[in-house]
Amino acid sequence: MNRRDFLRIGGSAALATGVGGVSALAASPSPQQRTASDTSLAVKFLGTGAAGKRRSDHPEDRRHSSILLDKRVIIDFTPASEDMLPEGFSPEAIFYTHSHGDHYNPSAAIKLKPGKIYVGETWIQRAIGELHAAATALGLPVPQIFPLRVGDRIPVGDITLTALPANHATGDIHEQTLMYLIEKGGVRIMYATDTGGIPAIAARLAGIDPHVKPGNPITGLIMESTMGIDLDEDFRIFAHSSVATVLRTVHMLSAYGRYTPPEGQPVYITHMARSLHKEPVGHNWPAPLKPASDGLEVIFRAP
Ligand SMILES: [Zn+2]
Repeated sequence: MNRRDFLRIGGSAALATGVGGVSALAASPSPQQRTASDTSLAVKFLGTGAAGKRRSDHPEDRRHSSILLDKRVIIDFTPASEDMLPEGFSPEAIFYTHSHGDHYNPSAAIKLKPGKIYVGETWIQRAIGELHAAATALGLPVPQIFPLRVGDRIPVGDITLTALPANHATGDIHEQTLMYLIEKGGVRIMYATDTGGIPAIAARLAGIDPHVKPGNPITGLIMESTMGIDLDEDFRIFAHSSVATVLRTVHMLSAYGRYTPPEGQPVYITHMARSLHKEPVGHNWPAPLKPASDGLEVIFRAP
């Protein structure tokens, strides 16, 4: 089957040709408990879109990609998601993937009064200057700001974030963009945006590179699909993923036992560009892929 036929197939047909454990993921997520516990992690999507003009009157309008973990830790944040948080909410920490304006906004960060801010060491001097300027302008305190190197493991209470290299680029050629492995108990989620596929070093650090034995499977995957099905022959393919990229990644990881989610748990897709997805988004996507939506809260459990 060629690539286009493969991608055009709807969910049920694709399942029959699925590889490894993928076919077990057909069912929709079980709606059991709705709160996180010691052994589960609550992820709230504060935004699931890419850069670009928002159309708030449109059903597929999406805020900039951002997530909240256990109501304590935020990854990426812009003013677009301010309405997703309760008044006066302050996270323990904000982690950034990179400095693009649809992920990082100094004023929005300062206004949240986070305890700590983590940014890649390759652009921390720029971030410190911008965060200090924003704090001065707003008359608010500057949080502690920490540099992240690829491979750094940062505990925030019982959640640990590991900085992984992403395949992405900003206007600063020296900036190493990041994505994250998020661990809590037996839950291991890869949050992969913005990135064109999973870079080898990231796979190795996360324990999901089949070259290396034994592996340490991930149990959850949240990955970007800036481009939709059949819309991925786009110049952004150097720095972003498509639905096809994610599907291939999931099939391979499942076949090699490096992705072992609880039964029925979807792979959640984020960072969807309005102009690069046919509507309705998610229509005819093969299982286990599912578009996340702004405000969606998912409880990830260990398998
Ligand atoms: Zn970006």
